[in-house]
Amino acid sequence: MTGICMQSEQRGQDGTMLAQHFPFTLFPSVVPRTCFQEAVDCMLDFNTLIHKVAHDHNFLENALKNVLEVDEFTQGLWKIYTQVREEGYTQPLSLGLFRNDFMIDVQDPDHVQIKQVEINTIAAGAGSLGSLLVYLHRLTLDMIGKHYDKEEVQDNDASLGAAWGLLKAWELYGRKQTDPGVQSLSLNPGVRVLRRTYLDIYNGASLTEDRRLVVDGDEVAVVYLRAGYAPNDFPTHKEWDARLKLERSMAIKCPSIQYHLAGLKKIQQVISQPGSVEKFIKDPAAVKRIRATFVKQYSLDLGPEGDKGAELGKTHPGMYVLKPQREGGGHNLYGNDIREFLETHQNSTERNAYILMERIFPKAHKNYLVTPGRPSALSDVTSELGIFGVYIGSATEEKINMQCGHMLRTKLLETDEGGLCTGHACLDSPFLVNDEL
Ligand code: ADP
Ligand code: MG
Repeated sequence: MTGICMQSEQRGQDGTMLAQHFPFTLFPSVVPRTCFQEAVDCMLDFNTLIHKVAHDHNFLENALKNVLEVDEFTQGLWKIYTQVREEGYTQPLSLGLFRNDFMIDVQDPDHVQIKQVEINTIAAGAGSLGSLLVYLHRLTLDMIGKHYDKEEVQDNDASLGAAWGLLKAWELYGRKQTDPGVQSLSLNPGVRVLRRTYLDIYNGASLTEDRRLVVDGDEVAVVYLRAGYAPNDFPTHKEWDARLKLERSMAIKCPSIQYHLAGLKKIQQVISQPGSVEKFIKDPAAVKRIRATFVKQYSLDLGPEGDKGAELGKTHPGMYVLKPQREGGGHNLYGNDIREFLETHQNSTERNAYILMERIFPKAHKNYLVTPGRPSALSDVTSELGIFGVYIGSATEEKINMQCGHMLRTKLLETDEGGLCTGHACLDSPFLVNDEL
């Protein structure tokens, strides 16, 4: 019994494998404790919300119908979703290892508050590195003689949480132990871990008659996708076929195709509309916790409603971020590029694939960014806080809902984007302080 982890490779232009360290900050960055706590406190609510959205077919279909007219990548995901749904799910459970990303907005100094950037259902990696970085940060603080306690620079159990979620899913699949493998899960060495590309799955994985997933003779219990959120992860039909094969299987998927869809930018824009959260979450306190983190988001669909959003973007481009249905960093438009895009696509359905989001303005602070190939100097930077959540459930039942660990990313003040893998941001740890910013 096995779990598999899909991973994309880092290669140089000549095709050789690249080895370089992950960009990180030299010291932890200051985060107000109250803001950190607010982000933690709403994680279970968001886990439930995303899970419920993912299981509401009409909501997904209505929210995505205009995107599906124009966005080929979303069409590919939707096709898999539709096929699996029509065939009937062989595996009722989904595993979510979500990451909810926030910035601390300081536009109004009297209301410093966390605001959600996005919630990730697939592009939610790097948790394990953050769990280790805290040890380096304690060391660098020791070296400069800066006093801290463990409540200020907290342990980060993001890595443990993800492993625990994978283990629980493995157990829920119905197995308790297996042969020790070459690579295994630290929490339970009986769980073998295989790493496979989509092409490997296309070529070497099969489904039994009752749709058990078999890879190299092993039955797979859990599939953890670490690639598959960018169009270039699917250069040919073979990768799409592999994704479909995984999805049709009895293995528990992280994320399942419906979880993947629920994390799309368009879904998050529709969720932010009046009444949407309330449709899924009945506890008014939970609704309030969720809604308190929202900034306004607008449809850009061709038509009167989208025209209103487009007008806002054109007149005040500096106050918004323009987002396509993409994950992983490097795809958004800012400032004058927003105006230009909206003017060029004034009468085009291309607009349907984008949403407009109010810009969050985080406070600048200082840190050293240690990035491969770049000089490290004390710089003005801003941070983005991610909170990890683990969820396992079916359409009718919640099995596990928990929060575990966090991730801080820090980037130069003048950089708009914040992706780690795209080289825009550095991994960081919070230094929690009681004082106001
Ligand atoms: P991706 O899926 O590419 O990570 P995000 O929505 O997280 O998409 O946007 C990428 C980056 O753009 C974020 O990490 C953040 O730095 C910046 N960003 C996104 N939305 C906003 C916003 N509303 N205000 C300010 N910056 C934002
Ligand atoms: Mg992001």
